[in-house]
Amino acid sequence: MKSLLVVCTLVVMAGALPALLDEVPKDGEVADDLNHFDARNLTDDEQLALDRELMESTRRLLENPDLYQGDILLTEEQKRALEERKVIANSALWWPAAADGYVYVNYRFATPTIAKTLVLQAINTWQAETCVRFTDIQSANGKPHLVFQNDNSGCNSFVGRQSNMNGQPVNLAPGCLTEVNTPIHEIGHALGFEHEHNRSDRDNFVYVVLANVQPGLGYAFDKAVTNNFNIPYDYSSVMQYYSTAFSVNNKETMVAKEPFGQLFLNLNTLNNFSFMDKRIANLQYKCIALNLKKCGVAADPCKNYGYFGTSCKCVCPPGTSGTSCETLNQPYLQALVAAKYPRSKTIVAEGRVTSTGYPSPIAAKDEYIQLIKAPACKKVRLTFTAFKLTQRATDKTCYPQQLTIRKNNNLVIASSYCASEIAPGQVIESEGTTMVLHFKSFTTAPSPGYSATITFVPQASCTGR
Ligand SMILES: [Zn+2]
Repeated sequence: MKSLLVVCTLVVMAGALPALLDEVPKDGEVADDLNHFDARNLTDDEQLALDRELMESTRRLLENPDLYQGDILLTEEQKRALEERKVIANSALWWPAAADGYVYVNYRFATPTIAKTLVLQAINTWQAETCVRFTDIQSANGKPHLVFQNDNSGCNSFVGRQSNMNGQPVNLAPGCLTEVNTPIHEIGHALGFEHEHNRSDRDNFVYVVLANVQPGLGYAFDKAVTNNFNIPYDYSSVMQYYSTAFSVNNKETMVAKEPFGQLFLNLNTLNNFSFMDKRIANLQYKCIALNLKKCGVAADPCKNYGYFGTSCKCVCPPGTSGTSCETLNQPYLQALVAAKYPRSKTIVAEGRVTSTGYPSPIAAKDEYIQLIKAPACKKVRLTFTAFKLTQRATDKTCYPQQLTIRKNNNLVIASSYCASEIAPGQVIESEGTTMVLHFKSFTTAPSPGYSATITFVPQASCTGR
């Protein structure tokens, strides 16, 4: 059996500074056991400086060849397997169901052990959402099982069940145990999940920018042979990496083809266990059939990607309603965006586009996308009347606040602005009918924000698109 240890470098980076996190958690990103810390003792400038330190350390780790030397951990056979790997599609790597329909996975904590709280929380999440059942066997039993341990190589796991190992490692360094999504992600690998951006159909949903990937790490974006169970690509999956993963130059290595999807590639931590993650796990391990049988229901009544759950009811995706999820109110991604980034919007009329609340200053951490769409054969012309965000950082990035504009048909091309880098009266025009404004603020320090007028002007030599 060929084996592949998946390297979760994103997670390593997200938890790169456990000592710092222990003392100074970021607003809204505080693990439960760190809640004793009172973030209000910090001034905004101090908080921002600490946030920046975390990000810069993350970058140093990204550029540290030792990190990858320590992370890759492949045998020669495993390196060859990278060329031809088959993971989710290879059911030999799935954990088998028992006669009662449940899928039993044994595990143990290595000695000396790791912090158990979030691992157990992740296990409970998998159990609550699927028919996989985990049992702590305390010590090795000569049969396949998971071993939660910290070998200091970061956060990583094999993909799928390793039938020839007396316990397969799920490595979780201390920095991997600052939030529950990381162990959920690593257990996902052990159950046969590939990264979302390695799905066989990912080219329909994300651009991969290999020119920005660190030399030698292009394999991180290889497409796997996956069984996607006809479930649409999910930018919000716990298995999706963020947009600058494996970057050699801090530029994006992945850009969502659906503009609003970029919101879910921009997290510095992993997404939550998503609806589609749960659905695909329930299909893969035949939990839906088990639930139907236990509930005495002959056929799955659930529509629009809903699935029949343990409580003998349909579990409905965001954007749907009704007992059978039969009413589709919004597409999945749109519903996710509305819930998590509610100030995002699509603009199809001429008029004005501003930062939220303008002319009131921006004084909150925030993120949203304003997608401006002109009619056929027109392009978007923005004429800025005001633009002032926080200053560019010493490393030249617009870290504290930025407006990223994508005006080309190729969404990979992007320009980020901050400070007063767009002058009053300055005009920015799209190449085609679409322009994307992506605003991010990591600070609560007030800044005036931006305002621009939108006009739709003819595209030269347009022949009726
Ligand atoms: Zn991973």
